[in-house]
Amino acid sequence: MTTRVLTGITTTGTPHLGNYAGAIRPAIELSRQSDVDAFFFMADYHALIKCEDPERVARSRLEIAATWIAAGLDPEKVTFYRQSDIPETTELCWMLSCVTPKGLMNRAHAYKASVDQNTEKGEDPDDGVTMGLFSYPVLMAADILIFNANKVPVGRDQIQHLEMARDIAQRFNHLYGKGEAFFVLPEAQVDDEVATLPGLDGRKMSKSYDNTIPLFEGGSKALRDAIMRIVTDSREPGVSKDPDSSHVFALYRAFATPDQASAFRRSLEEGLGWGEAKTQLYELLESIIGPMREKYNQLMADPSSIESILQAGALKARKQSGDLMTRLREAVGLRAPASSAGDGKKDKAKIRSARFVSFRENGKFHFRLLSAQGEELLLSEAFDQPKDAGQVMAALKQQGPRALGQFQEGIWQLTWQGQIFCRLSDEQLKAVADVVHQLNHDAE
Ligand code: AMP
Repeated sequence: MTTRVLTGITTTGTPHLGNYAGAIRPAIELSRQSDVDAFFFMADYHALIKCEDPERVARSRLEIAATWIAAGLDPEKVTFYRQSDIPETTELCWMLSCVTPKGLMNRAHAYKASVDQNTEKGEDPDDGVTMGLFSYPVLMAADILIFNANKVPVGRDQIQHLEMARDIAQRFNHLYGKGEAFFVLPEAQVDDEVATLPGLDGRKMSKSYDNTIPLFEGGSKALRDAIMRIVTDSREPGVSKDPDSSHVFALYRAFATPDQASAFRRSLEEGLGWGEAKTQLYELLESIIGPMREKYNQLMADPSSIESILQAGALKARKQSGDLMTRLREAVGLRAPASSAGDGKKDKAKIRSARFVSFRENGKFHFRLLSAQGEELLLSEAFDQPKDAGQVMAALKQQGPRALGQFQEGIWQLTWQGQIFCRLSDEQLKAVADVVHQLNHDAE
């Protein structure tokens, strides 16, 4: 049996060592197991809660996507997408909001921390608290439940939100399930082996504290400069250091083999100076990060290559989220007109299931149009980019096949930007035109 594992990173800044060691590296290792079905995403809706700088959010989305790929993620094996490319997430978020008791959200850590800070300062308890911040555990529940993830790797501080997701899922299942459980109950997966990395000042490395060591941004120089700024005690070279209270050692250990870590520990105990210790930390990190940085820089120089991967990921993800959302809409009473209409119910249901399906083969992108009975009515030639295949599908839907075709020597040649993407007999073209017409009619 496979276990579906889901994890996301908020796109509010450049990825740092903590993101890599605490989330990306273990997630990629996990995704290589044959019994794991991994879903990894850029949490860009979440970013809007904390960051009102559009340029930063946009850049961070690219940087985080490039980081996952540069770190060895195989987008063919996992489902890799941007949260905002899955509109079912926000639709589900609303449905879940409508069954979530406000009292449950009152107890969420992030909200309570803001209230406590305000109270301490003598401000209004809700000063500066947006609805996004207040209800973000519901959005997080939607991220998880829309794909029915079994396990969500999190730090200890996030366990509460997983419990909330379970509560909300249970409530929805109970209210609307009629014996059918729409949602599996997700579990938090806390890995004690995965260290929480300290930042430059010794607090948890975090974008919120502005104490991060960037993974790639600024290249090897920025990495070195940041490492040199890590706070240490004032013990001189030659004086024994306590590795267990040292942030330099904590960072070193998170990237070193056990043998390297033991040797470094011994050197500190024997009086290694902080300057030399930091140089050793830099050399270790550079040996790991350097090769990945090259790939990262290539990707950042060609954002369309990232976009293609993400579009393909979104298509893959939406097959699941779309199906579940159809069932959920039905369950809450937001039914498609066809199923509540009397006459023509059967025909409409049949036509509704005719569909465009895109797929990837040998690294290229195709699509086909299937009839309600699953018969292939049209198969496209290969496109290099999924967005091209998507644009052609959209044009076909909007304009119909005749508008894209030329009839020559008894055959219809459908073209897009000067390239033939499909050849159909007159009879086949009529069948495609009928189905496209019905699909459009149905969507109205
Ligand atoms: P965030 O950027 O807060 O969305 O975090 C994304 C992921 O990186 C989460 O899984 C965090 O647990 C992980 N992470 C963030 N900061 C650290 C850190 N200092 N040490 C270890 N993991 C971290």
